[in-house]
Amino acid sequence: MLKIGLTGGIGSGKTTVAKVFEHLGVPVFYADLEAKKCMQSDPTLIKQLKATFGNDIYIDKKLQKDRLASIIFNDNTALHTINRLVHPAVQKVFKDWCLTQNTYYVLKEAAILFESGSDKELDQIVCVSATNDLRKKRIMQRDNVTESQVLGRMSKQWHQSRKIALADFHISNDEKQLLIPQVLEVHALILKQSV
Ligand code: ATP
Repeated sequence: MLKIGLTGGIGSGKTTVAKVFEHLGVPVFYADLEAKKCMQSDPTLIKQLKATFGNDIYIDKKLQKDRLASIIFNDNTALHTINRLVHPAVQKVFKDWCLTQNTYYVLKEAAILFESGSDKELDQIVCVSATNDLRKKRIMQRDNVTESQVLGRMSKQWHQSRKIALADFHISNDEKQLLIPQVLEVHALILKQSV
């Protein structure tokens, strides 16, 4: 079974594209969502996070997301540390999840595939892109945040041109080119490898 990464910068439309693949019957593993679940339920990871960021990162067994966000978005070392701790936990869940799938390929959707090095554990990568202005506008609307907050989040990720250059497939979600035909084309190209 091929393991294909689906990545792109914040607001590029990864999740939107992933939903289209799901409609085509492709199982999608949402790594960022799983990371949040692991931080809430994996005892080893919880222990490591408390030891690193302090016990009060959890209150009544609930992860204090705002507190964690304010730590990691102001401190690159903390951001690296959390990625280093969370990645193995998510990777284990992904491995187990793959064993329960029986399609020719599965997708792993994640915002920071290249940044975290998880591209090396995948067979091929699809990168979704959109202009910075569109991405900013989408995130400000979706998350009700300010422009500078979006720019702060964007600055923690690689520039999208770097991701496009490294990816095997590129989908442009710029609202100029139709999205579904591009997804169908990538889907067909991946399936073509099975024959
Ligand atoms: P994040 O990295 O924050 O998870 P993402 O790359 O997964 O973001 P989405 O959540 O898919 O991006 O899209 C961001 C927002 O933009 C969503 O509200 C989505 O509905 C909207 N959006 C995405 N693509 C389009 C499009 N082609 N036309 C209109 N709205 C879109």
